[in-house]
Amino acid sequence: MLYLDNSATTKIEDEVFESMLPFLKEEYGNPSSKYYSQATNSHKAVETARKNIANLLGASTKEIIFTSGSTEANNMIIKGVSDYYSNKGNHIITSVAEHASVLETCRYLESRGSDISYLSVDKYGRIDLEELKSSIKPTTILVSIIWGNNEVGSLNDIKEIAELCKSKNVFFHTDATQVIGKVDINLEEYPGISFLSCSAHKFHGPKGVGSVFIRKDQYDILTPITPLFHGGGQESNIRSGTLAVHNIVGMGKAADLAKEKMPTNILQLKDIENYLVEILKNKFKNTVVFNNDTTNKIPGIINVQFKGINNEVLLKQLAPVIAASTGSACSSSKPSHVLDAIGLSLEEIRNTVRFSLSPNISKEDLNIFREL
Ligand code: PMP
Repeated sequence: MLYLDNSATTKIEDEVFESMLPFLKEEYGNPSSKYYSQATNSHKAVETARKNIANLLGASTKEIIFTSGSTEANNMIIKGVSDYYSNKGNHIITSVAEHASVLETCRYLESRGSDISYLSVDKYGRIDLEELKSSIKPTTILVSIIWGNNEVGSLNDIKEIAELCKSKNVFFHTDATQVIGKVDINLEEYPGISFLSCSAHKFHGPKGVGSVFIRKDQYDILTPITPLFHGGGQESNIRSGTLAVHNIVGMGKAADLAKEKMPTNILQLKDIENYLVEILKNKFKNTVVFNNDTTNKIPGIINVQFKGINNEVLLKQLAPVIAASTGSACSSSKPSHVLDAIGLSLEEIRNTVRFSLSPNISKEDLNIFREL
């Protein structure tokens, strides 16, 4: 079975799995407890993981807050900013091509009286900077734009967006879930990014754990927001709940490996992506139409129409040998809102399949497409 649904989730790396085991067995201490070794070992392991994630992102350890994943991180930031800065304004800007965890959060806030602008996107799913610029108003408190799209892979111009938001004194949040380990991020180079979300299972870590970057100011104070979860305040009083130490340790290990392997992983992903595209073009000729851009994209995501072939039927037929999807697993029951936003017809959406690769796939593995 060839697994080509790595944008939905990835296989946990062996080293990651191994690193987690002690914290599911003998090292079961609560990292917030004190004095005895199980507690201090857990605490140390969490802090090492935090350091690894900070190192991967070019952040400082204090700026990393553990969550259960990107859904929570996106909810936490959007709702948390909306609530905390309600005296300043109630306007939030996002785009029509965001992940459901951003869009649905914005729709929820809209139903409670927030003013939300949904920016349009071009044919590859990128926002237009001029439209963003003209949408910012005195009541704007937050801009939330995805770094790399989970369906078509296009990268937004995060540098320009961050600079614009900074110049207008507006917080900027980016959902970076799909780009971790595939785009080299150094947050020191993006002072306009106030918040960033990520999820470990997208980069060969475990499911159910993620983190949010919250920028600190020159006095070392994190940008204040209203917490999503109230309670013991374990994570800098911004996120409560006993930490899932085994998951956090796994995420830290995955971050470490992602950082170390990033240059070779990116090259490999580009190489096998080109290889698969060539096979598809040669084999299916005019039957295939690519929805994704070829440059300025997440390496390894191919979004392609098979003209006249229903995607669900195709995926079911492929399922014994190839695992792929029509798009976002989180919204798989509905036709893709991203493909709709980039201007595809319902028919074109129903012909579309996403293949998302992983660096451990070889060209030989992909030769299976020649035999279809
Ligand atoms: N944002 C993006 C871009 C995603 O691809 C996903 C996962 N499909 C999420 C957010 C949510 O991540 P999680 O399900 O791990 O909370």
